[in-house]
Amino acid sequence: MSDDINPFESLQEQIDDAAAHIDVDDGVLERIKNPERVLEANLSVELDDGSVGVFRAYRSQFNGDRGPYKGGIRYHPGVSRDEVKALSGWMVYKCAVVDIPYGGGKGGIVIDPRAHSAAELERITRAFATELRPLIGEDRDIPAPDVNTGQREMNWIKDTYETLENTTAPGVITGKAIDSGGSAGRVEATGRSTMLTARETFDYLGKDLPDASVAVQGYGNAGSVAAKLLEADHGATVVAVSDSSGAVYNPDGLDAEAAKEYKNETGSVTGYPGASKELTNEELLALDVDLLVPAALENAIDGELATEVDADVIVEAANGPLTPEADDVLTDRDVTVVPDILANAGGVTVSYFEWVQNRQRFYWTESRVNEELKRHIVEAFDGLVECYEAYDLPNFRTAAYVVALQRVLNASEEAGRWP
Ligand code: GLU
Repeated sequence: MSDDINPFESLQEQIDDAAAHIDVDDGVLERIKNPERVLEANLSVELDDGSVGVFRAYRSQFNGDRGPYKGGIRYHPGVSRDEVKALSGWMVYKCAVVDIPYGGGKGGIVIDPRAHSAAELERITRAFATELRPLIGEDRDIPAPDVNTGQREMNWIKDTYETLENTTAPGVITGKAIDSGGSAGRVEATGRSTMLTARETFDYLGKDLPDASVAVQGYGNAGSVAAKLLEADHGATVVAVSDSSGAVYNPDGLDAEAAKEYKNETGSVTGYPGASKELTNEELLALDVDLLVPAALENAIDGELATEVDADVIVEAANGPLTPEADDVLTDRDVTVVPDILANAGGVTVSYFEWVQNRQRFYWTESRVNEELKRHIVEAFDGLVECYEAYDLPNFRTAAYVVALQRVLNASEEAGRWP
């Protein structure tokens, strides 16, 4: 893992790579490579021991040409202004590649949530929601979960916003609990699109998913659901999984669900009794497998590690897990990479369905959600492949950005320049 690579520079490089295939004005390109605005706030909150804690928080609104800003809120000690800017930009192109009517945004608080009680996290979250209130809204900017946030935090943000605005506005945030206006299928959606894009890619390459061995780096929501669905729905063999404490391996298969239950009980996959061997994270990333799913944080695979990768296909469940140098190495080595902006777009796609249901006050069945998700992801995959072949592009990532950039540029052009 490489800490010295700035994810915002990676995003800009990815946009430049795609822009090289499109006729775009330099000024317009500069505009869609940078956020429209970034909020920086210092949340001061009374801690349980009576002292005052101050937490730096950000919300970046990257581009709103295609609709309200949309994207998650992350709680992590590694959050930085540039990380949030990068993640908000990836949201723009993610929403565009799956063609849902949103721009992109992202937020984060610099915090280790494990070091705080639920009561402290509630006060910190409500303080952030109060700072966010003038910026967000059902038609303005719609946050959602990301690393270390989930239904609980979304419910607090919704409640804070609705209380301060003296209204009901469930569509101000997505990823809520079902009883607070959440959607069926939202929790599984990111892992589901990871599975769907893996399936489409294997079909495209003429490879068999039921015969595939799979390694998953990161065993949070995205990674564990992807592993479970690949195993249960497609008969793939999940041979290795990891989290921040280490990795476990069994060449005969791990039982993805049992490994997740073990992690829920003990806090980590390490020590999981269904494993035959423990590995380091680096060893997992270098395993000889058919499919590698990085599902943790940015920069998991840098240029050096990319030379060690022994997988045929990589599907990015995480945002930004490959550095641009890793991308170049893997393209040269003929490893097929399904980019994050498509592979993990299931999360925001079902967020869109949640928002549609909130606006209509009419709720769908889980099977309808999953069917609609499949349609969006498969259509987006087909569009990407069509572009990849038509433009003779070097890899799927560039194809995804060419499709997405074209849509953002069209919306920007149609809006005109004013003032
Ligand atoms: N945080 C997720 C992502 O990176 C979901 C965002 C959303 O649902 O708005 O795509």
